[in-house]
Amino acid sequence: MPLKAVKLEKFKQQLIAKRRQLLTEVRGSNTGSLETSGDGIQDIADQASSAYTKEFLLSIGDAERRLLKQVDDALERIRQQTFGQCEGCGEMISERRLEALPFAKLCIGCQEEEERARSRR
Ligand SMILES: [Zn+2]
Repeated sequence: MPLKAVKLEKFKQQLIAKRRQLLTEVRGSNTGSLETSGDGIQDIADQASSAYTKEFLLSIGDAERRLLKQVDDALERIRQQTFGQCEGCGEMISERRLEALPFAKLCIGCQEEEERARSRR
């Protein structure tokens, strides 16, 4: 069953806040050009083009870069209306999991499967 619009909006706000937090953390006080007046999804797309300069990506660590990518991917999935769907099996990810990890793209089963596969390598 797809997520209710109100739930989706909540996750979207969480993701936008997370993204802003990441950008603020890595840029310190130098975030002026990244601030926008609204929280619309279009603003995020605009921000992305200015934020993803080469220097910016080089200035942040791997962990932040990966997380930022995950957050952006999740926002993109909201736009594509596939948010909450597991990329592995296509089932809906549980709301409890999304509340803890709004940028999760795999359900718990597929995530465990992937971690098992990774540790075998
Ligand atoms: Zn799955």
